[in-house]
Amino acid sequence: MEDCIFCQIATGERQAVVLYRDELVTAFEDLHPIAPVHFLVVPNRHIRSVNEVTGADEDALGRLVSVARRLAHEKGVQASGYRLVINTGPDAGQSVFHLHVHVIGGRKMPFRFEDGAQMR
Ligand code: 5GP
Ligand code: ZN
Repeated sequence: MEDCIFCQIATGERQAVVLYRDELVTAFEDLHPIAPVHFLVVPNRHIRSVNEVTGADEDALGRLVSVARRLAHEKGVQASGYRLVINTGPDAGQSVFHLHVHVIGGRKMPFRFEDGAQMR
């Protein structure tokens, strides 16, 4: 999609600090990191969100997780831990509508599912 910023990063048309790229996925540093380690991994093909995922995307999404794992290890957070987050839709605060996984680590995460887990 030509006006999608993550499609443009995937093709190299828009600048980003690219950590890895292959035929299925691209990984790059988040422009506004919220932790010492914060990068994104996207499928090269434009998928708006998890809501639009189909069986045809399974190879790319499998690759997405294995690339996230490898880069998290390269960045040295395998033992301290890290979080993979895929925001989907308005309640989750998705702001870029090209599916992406955030890989966040290097500090304690503020939210645990045990904390304030009641539905309000
Ligand atoms: P979302 O809120 O959709 O889950 O996450 C979008 C993420 O994309 C945010 O963390 C934001 O900082 C990042 N982002 C937005 N625009 C750009 C950009 O042009 N380049 C890069 N590298 N990251 C971006
Ligand atoms: Zn896109």
